[in-house]
Amino acid sequence: MLFLKQTQLMKTKISIGFIALAASLQCLAQTPEQIINADVIIRDIGVVTMIQPSAQEHQMVCISKGIITFIGKDAAAKELKTNAKVINGTGKYIMPGMADMHCHLPEKKEIKNYFTLNIMSGVTTLRSMQGNNEHLEYRKMTDAPVPNLYLSAPPVLTKKIISNSVADSMIGKYKAEGFDFVKILYVNDSASFAAIMLNAKKYNMPVCGHLPKCVSLEYVLQSGYNSIEHMGGIASAYDKGMEYYQSTLTLTKKNNVYHCPTMDWYQIAYHELSEDEMKKRFGMELIEDSVKQKWSKSIADDIKKAGEEKIAKDKAEYKITQEKQLKALKLIADNNVGLLIGLDAGGLYEVPGFEMIEEMKIYKRAGLSNYQILQAATINAARYLKQDGKWGSVETNKDANLILLSANPLIDIEAITKVEGIFLNGKYYLPKDLKKNLE
Ligand SMILES: [Zn+2]
Repeated sequence: MLFLKQTQLMKTKISIGFIALAASLQCLAQTPEQIINADVIIRDIGVVTMIQPSAQEHQMVCISKGIITFIGKDAAAKELKTNAKVINGTGKYIMPGMADMHCHLPEKKEIKNYFTLNIMSGVTTLRSMQGNNEHLEYRKMTDAPVPNLYLSAPPVLTKKIISNSVADSMIGKYKAEGFDFVKILYVNDSASFAAIMLNAKKYNMPVCGHLPKCVSLEYVLQSGYNSIEHMGGIASAYDKGMEYYQSTLTLTKKNNVYHCPTMDWYQIAYHELSEDEMKKRFGMELIEDSVKQKWSKSIADDIKKAGEEKIAKDKAEYKITQEKQLKALKLIADNNVGLLIGLDAGGLYEVPGFEMIEEMKIYKRAGLSNYQILQAATINAARYLKQDGKWGSVETNKDANLILLSANPLIDIEAITKVEGIFLNGKYYLPKDLKKNLE
């Protein structure tokens, strides 16, 4: 009996081994064609796939027409017969381009710089949170590379009651114009909120934004709202005790709602950092002195207007709120609740794209692993946008919107500040060339 069982086990092992061998032979048979036809081959590179918590070392990655066509172990010494552009990746890493999921697009005269700064720093996807009709034109820009854009319609911000027919024509119009989703900044009452949610569903338009105060957090979580900005409602849910908080997280996850905390925005708004610290932030050397002087004056005016005492009081109060936010944030990530990363940049000492590391450092302070932080910036964003079949991880047949880094960000999160190259929509860019676009 025992003998029989062992034989069966061996048979199973042999057949599994045979399938694996056949699969790898098939893979080898296909490899040359994918290499020959590649536009770009990155050799001996570490791949931060974002579906595994550690990097896959010494890989060969082939890209053709902006799509990843091959990933496999690279015998680095082996010479390749190819017309492709070959990049030596020894000691380097690639990961998916990052997504800033809470941005405010500037006006037309500044948009070229804005896009350039984002792409230079490895941000290849932007979710715009305060739309206007001008933004629809930005997609067609040709004088500089454009990140992938997800555009909100002009936000809902009214004390008026929104009837069903008003919501219908408003959302129908936004959909027809080409906006991707509806953002709520403020809605007056629960009937108006319900009218927006109902008609958004009709037009297949996602709705997200600030936590509406006219309804409960539980109601919002079950309404179809798909992301809550700025940790809305979460710190106060955390305040109500762990049992209540856990049930809130369960409800959030069940309804596939994401959080986009924008922690650095709070940090700056509440004067957490000294001006000297902010002046040394990553990317600040790319900002003109005249702009920095304006920022400095604005801070000085703010302090003067509110008074040092009030500023100190607000700062101390925020410190307490922030401690709760950080604990709430850690539990969001640990419970696999949807977590995004967004910068809300455009204010003082916030350099578009380059600010990403500042937000990540706060996630790190909350106790998130580098893998969790990088997931928020890549695959989570793709999942949120229902684009994870197309991007957000480094896998074959996905878009090759990738960044080449000189160090491994899973080991040291600061590696995301070491961008050596950016692949976006079929083109390869070097930061030093992109820098020439800055005006
Ligand atoms: Zn915002």
